[in-house]
Amino acid sequence: GVHSLNTIVNIEEMSTAKTVKEYVGTARKAFKTGRTKTLEFRKNQLKGLLKFLENHTKEIEDALYKDLRKHKQETNISEIEMVANDLRYTLMELKNWVQPDKPNKRLVNILDEVYIYKDPYGVVLIIGAWNYPILLTLGPLVGALAGGNTVILKPSELVPETNKIMYEILPTYLDRECFQIYLGGVFETTELLKEKFDYIFFTGSSKVGQIVYETAAKTLTPCTLELGGKCPLYLDDSVDMYIAARRILWGRMLNSGQTCVAPDYLLCSKQVEEKFLQEAKKVIKTFWGSNPCKSESLSRIVSEKHFKRLSDFISLGKIALGGQMDPKELLIAPTILTDISPHSLVMEEEIFGPILPIINVKDAGEAIDFINSREKPLALYVFSKNKKTQDTFLNKTSSGGISINDTISHIGTENLPFGGVGLSGIGSYHGKFGFDTFTHRKGVLVKNFSRLTELTLSIRYPPYSDKKTNL
Ligand code: NAD
Repeated sequence: GVHSLNTIVNIEEMSTAKTVKEYVGTARKAFKTGRTKTLEFRKNQLKGLLKFLENHTKEIEDALYKDLRKHKQETNISEIEMVANDLRYTLMELKNWVQPDKPNKRLVNILDEVYIYKDPYGVVLIIGAWNYPILLTLGPLVGALAGGNTVILKPSELVPETNKIMYEILPTYLDRECFQIYLGGVFETTELLKEKFDYIFFTGSSKVGQIVYETAAKTLTPCTLELGGKCPLYLDDSVDMYIAARRILWGRMLNSGQTCVAPDYLLCSKQVEEKFLQEAKKVIKTFWGSNPCKSESLSRIVSEKHFKRLSDFISLGKIALGGQMDPKELLIAPTILTDISPHSLVMEEEIFGPILPIINVKDAGEAIDFINSREKPLALYVFSKNKKTQDTFLNKTSSGGISINDTISHIGTENLPFGGVGLSGIGSYHGKFGFDTFTHRKGVLVKNFSRLTELTLSIRYPPYSDKKTNL
């Protein structure tokens, strides 16, 4: 059995026994007590979250294995440690971040005090996706708690085992009024969105992101939208092709391609394609063996619907490598497709699976034109040792983020914002950017009462006259 359905039903019933109004009411009341505002409270919450990850690593690994057949090593690297690192860094820096900033003053304000306060928004709603269910719910939670907000977390309904742990264990490490989990799918989320929040942080598809944004507009609720799309990868002849193939295939196939920043398709010349395929063949064998569907390092496709969608994609091009499938276990071997038309369906929607189509372009310029003719991607990848080629991509394309000569890892790099642009999203987080996202910058001026200041102000007081203006 892929999921134990009984547990989903029971837990969701428990979660929805309280009405959405009660959830939001509890969160709002807790926020009004003011306790989330002290540095000590925030740090205790963050420490609680860290302890949850440390004390329950094994249960989280087991749950993700049941939900997605994620190998525990992958769960550790790409979920638990990512959040834990963000937590450790935030715990270290938070005392500085919460201090009001003192911007530079101009002469007119020289006797005044000028500050930028970082106010919590209040009640925050975090809606998560299923593909990295720990990273994409608890990651934003770090910034929300650091910012001094109360939180309602709505994880994706497609990962019941992970939800069970988050629902049953996580709240015991946190303030139960300041942090609540609400479980459910489309219906429950729609109900939740009818309530007024002070901030909404959404991770998921661009399509649902638009629904959330539209709903939020009715109450003018600010949103961060972490969305998806097709992330291009350009590869040229200047690189070590074996190393490039390892880095590209790791990023494409991680979590069986169900990764928002995975390279979605490869742009290269026909000659580069040949070299790449030679190395890719070796790499696939090294990473997943000669029968990848038997490999313990291959995650499952999340649902039958997605399995069907992906197997249809495979029938669209020429299978250069891979193509094996196990429909019973919902496994698809790493697959590379060639002879793909830019207009084929596999080039229209985000693939979100272990399939890498190759589109031939003659050079970097043509690749850039191709990329710029489409929606702005969440991530962009360039594999080239040529500095000029690197610069051209950096200057002539727009994307959420970019890794040169690697895939995925810019999102785990400390002090880099993570977020999209255009259809791939609005806003960003991670580290200080997470804190900034979940706090409002309040401009504060404390005026002095000196006579000199009052004299300089006289120009603003009526009665107005030319004499005053010419002062
Ligand atoms: P999804 O949009 O289907 O679901 C996301 C969340 O929205 C879930 O919690 C779901 O319950 C809820 N939801 C679904 N339909 C809804 C509706 N009509 N109204 C209100 N809520 C609704 O996305 P998914 O399948 O969970 O995730 C895959 C997508 O997310 C991909 O496009 C991927 O690229 C993107 N993604 C982006 C990031 C990022 O950080 N930018 C990370 C992971 C995934």
